[in-house]
Amino acid sequence: MSTPSRWTQLLQRLPGWARRWLVRPGLLLPTVIPDALWQQVLHDLPCLADLSREEKARLQGLCARFLADKEFHGAQDLAVSDAMALAVAAQACLPLLYWGPDALDWYDDFVGIVLHAGEVLAPREALDEAGVLHHWREPLIGETMAGGPVMLAWSHVRGDRQAQTQGHNLVIHEFAHKLDLRGKPAGTPANGCPPLPAGFMGLGPSAARQRWQQDWSAAYAHFCQQLALAERFGQPAPWLDPYAAQAPAEFFACTCEAYWVARERFGLEFPALAALLDAFFRRPPR
Ligand SMILES: [Zn+2]
Repeated sequence: MSTPSRWTQLLQRLPGWARRWLVRPGLLLPTVIPDALWQQVLHDLPCLADLSREEKARLQGLCARFLADKEFHGAQDLAVSDAMALAVAAQACLPLLYWGPDALDWYDDFVGIVLHAGEVLAPREALDEAGVLHHWREPLIGETMAGGPVMLAWSHVRGDRQAQTQGHNLVIHEFAHKLDLRGKPAGTPANGCPPLPAGFMGLGPSAARQRWQQDWSAAYAHFCQQLALAERFGQPAPWLDPYAAQAPAEFFACTCEAYWVARERFGLEFPALAALLDAFFRRPPR
């Protein structure tokens, strides 16, 4: 942040383990979010509009701990203000809202959040079947590394009512990858199967995993089929970012976005997944 409090400055000089120890629930108030700043973020982010007063207060507490624990960096001299950092924090913490005091543990494998002003052209390379190495540049608005930082394009982080109607939210997308990667051995890619809580939907661990994989695989196959029909034969396109068809991990991240910013529409489009995500995020019925 460009104007961090003295407490935040002190925290950021400490190693990660010490910082996490200090900001664990109930020990210290990690940082104070000025009320005017918090009200501004609530106003700017339509995805927070439906939260109750108690839920907003809980989210504010999560954001305070998140801001004390994470380090924001602006790429190419982008100045990251407190308001920008708080906008990221509020969206990153929204999926953790009903997970109790240890919820931030889900994000404990990294510290850095890198903000770029806009889209980034990332260098890529791959070997084809003939053994030829190809180089190209891929436009990115966000990226999540296993055990590493989260990159976000600020141009896509700000609240946008139009994007919300379509079920888009870049921050929730990237942090959903963190949830997916949780507990996976190093080098294992995200696959759309995060660790499920004990007693998930009243099932034992293997039945819960089986139920998750079955419902998610079926929904992914159906979505890809609908998208292909739309692209090839002009049928109506399914409601969800077409990027979701890239891989099961992207489908999971895109559905998490849509779930958190447009729960009602999401429930109509993907009723089986809505039930799974309600149970996973422990979101109380409205
Ligand atoms: Zn993604």
